[in-house]
Amino acid sequence: MTRGRFAPSPTGRMHLGNVFCALLSWLSAKSKGGEWVLRIEDLDPQRSKREYALQLMDDLQWLGLAWDGDPVWQSQRGDIYEQYLKQLATMQMIYPCYCTRADIMATQAPHETDGRIVYKGTCRPEHHSVQSSIPSPPDSLSPSENSLASTLISQAATIRLMVPDENIPFVDGHYGEQSINLTEHCGDYIIRRKDGAWAYQLAVVIDDALMGVNEIVRGRDLLLSSPQQIHLRKVLFPNIHEAVNFIHHPLLCNMQGQRLCKRDKSMDLGFMRQEGKTAKEIIGYLAHLAGITEKAYDASPQELLPLFSWHKISREDIQVE
Ligand code: GLU
Repeated sequence: MTRGRFAPSPTGRMHLGNVFCALLSWLSAKSKGGEWVLRIEDLDPQRSKREYALQLMDDLQWLGLAWDGDPVWQSQRGDIYEQYLKQLATMQMIYPCYCTRADIMATQAPHETDGRIVYKGTCRPEHHSVQSSIPSPPDSLSPSENSLASTLISQAATIRLMVPDENIPFVDGHYGEQSINLTEHCGDYIIRRKDGAWAYQLAVVIDDALMGVNEIVRGRDLLLSSPQQIHLRKVLFPNIHEAVNFIHHPLLCNMQGQRLCKRDKSMDLGFMRQEGKTAKEIIGYLAHLAGITEKAYDASPQELLPLFSWHKISREDIQVE
């Protein structure tokens, strides 16, 4: 059975871009008779307020995007993430990194102009090179392994995962075949921040696996982070053979071609609700923008189900007037 998920990092009322993502992921899972689960990605203690998550849930309910089961809150799952981090420590796949941002910037090659930061492995222990065969995870940690792992993770250092220097191929459900070399694309990436906050990549992979998620629909800005997750899932969950179906969608942009964000007040759901817009109006409008309907008309998510197909959705970003 398909189990899709919506995994927002709440920052207040939803904006049209979040609603678009939620609608497509809901339609994709439900049109296959599947389930749609909600995960609140409130990992960053500075930015994630409970009231924002409650507003987001209120928005989803108002829109008619009902989720199955209880929402999962990442802020309550630190113990689970720590267990898996310890597992990675005993597999010798992680290490502490003491580089400052300035140190990392100083190692960037001049051609890397797309804003990506590639970590060159400055702190990677010399005797550790990543073999293409991944060591098996331990069934349970012995007391000495446990204390070794605890020492590593108690340090006030960024923790990075060693990545292999090989291509990770995958087929995106909407953008087709992709292949990324993690060493070239991002290098050893962060799985726990220096201040102890869990990094997005670690938490997402663990949660998707433990929640039985097998379909991930999200904005195409996250397309190239999928191989990081595919790799980490293989490392942490070698016994789960079912691959996750990644499906990325085009982004909504404003008239200047920039991705919609919270600053575009008129695209904020709180504002739209105050202006008297109805849920069906907004859903119908987005369905039309997506290409699901030929004309914009008021519709509930349920009413769109028989019309939905990924073939109708464009791959180009979509401008919102
Ligand atoms: N929490 C992420 C965000 O709001 C999305 C994560 C995901 O769908 O993988 O951007």
